[in-house]
Amino acid sequence: MQLATRLDRISEPQTILMAKLGRELRAQGIQVTDLSLGEPDFKTPQHIIDAATVAMDQGYTKYPPIAGFPELRQAIAAKLKRDNNLDYLPEETMVSTGAKQVLANTILCLLNPGDEAIIPTPFWVTYASLVSLAEAKSVFIPCGINDHFKLTPERLEAAITERSRMFIFSSPCNPTGAVYTKEELAALAQVFVKYPDIIIVSDEIYEYINYNGRHESIAQFPELRDRVVVVNGFAKGFAMTGWRLGYMAAPAELIKACDKFQSQFTSGANSIAQRAAITALTADLTPTMDMVQAFEERKEYFIPALQSIDGLKLSQPDGAFYAFPDISSYFGKSDGETVIRNADDMAMYLLHKGHVIGVSGAAFGDDNCIRFSFAASMEVLQQGVEKIRAALARLH
Ligand code: PLP
Repeated sequence: MQLATRLDRISEPQTILMAKLGRELRAQGIQVTDLSLGEPDFKTPQHIIDAATVAMDQGYTKYPPIAGFPELRQAIAAKLKRDNNLDYLPEETMVSTGAKQVLANTILCLLNPGDEAIIPTPFWVTYASLVSLAEAKSVFIPCGINDHFKLTPERLEAAITERSRMFIFSSPCNPTGAVYTKEELAALAQVFVKYPDIIIVSDEIYEYINYNGRHESIAQFPELRDRVVVVNGFAKGFAMTGWRLGYMAAPAELIKACDKFQSQFTSGANSIAQRAAITALTADLTPTMDMVQAFEERKEYFIPALQSIDGLKLSQPDGAFYAFPDISSYFGKSDGETVIRNADDMAMYLLHKGHVIGVSGAAFGDDNCIRFSFAASMEVLQQGVEKIRAALARLH
């Protein structure tokens, strides 16, 4: 069969590949510790599950409006006011099949072949694949561990060309856990003010998983109001990864474009998940905050534990649930069999020789680091740390 060349522009996420390799080892009877997962290890809160059951009983089993039920769009607008002090009308919001589809709609509705999208690295892998699908070009700005993985206004401005049409970032960031402060966002906003052709795509899906306190959105600056796309969803904050539901807030013109696009791709997001999501947004957030507290307790254990391992350099994650240690001090070392030349080698070494799964930083645009998720029980984290320690101690 001759497949379309379009497929060559995207690659399978490394996270999925690592999970597959892990399953293969398990099938051989090897006990593997999985720290590769990008999802909360909690069950969806019961009141959200109950709302889905009620929705099915009430007959919400037919095609929904393409852009989402009006009550959900209303709840999203109210949430943006309540949590972020942002003023959006329901018509300036839209619901899709996961934040991933929000990003796909946005990127494919805005970028033309040859346009440039600026992406600070490390970044969430999907951004660059979607930019490639649009036949546009990703322009990466490396932000290493010494910058706490954050972009400065000077470096942003240096990357802007006359072809720049989009800027894509996440805060809190997957994979680094970096969180931009209001002052840092304001400084970036000052640069964007000078370049009105650039749309800012702000992925805020880890909003609630923030150990700094209040989440800050770049949409809060009135001078950027007409060209920020806020991307958010239910997967991380409400432990709803499998429900596949995300949303956006943006100028009405872009919402209309995404509505048209989505009408030919999916006919809108799952109706039952949408009804349950109204409950998620309007009910008390205690279950979310309990989950965040559990992540924070694990972080308090996990980060110092990794820091205590020789040769690992860490930046404190202020949000999300990932550690992203720099492992470059091991490059050139070997256990007598395998030489570690880069992050991919290290991920494979840890998998095959240490039986612990992390994800190579190369997948996120940083070849010096490995991502370990702490969305796992304390017992699994302790096991993981000891396996990493033992495997690295064998490298000389
Ligand atoms: N954005 C970031 C930064 C993510 O880490 C993820 C999921 O891993 C998503 C978006 C996708 O979210 P969803 O599951 O709602 O499609």
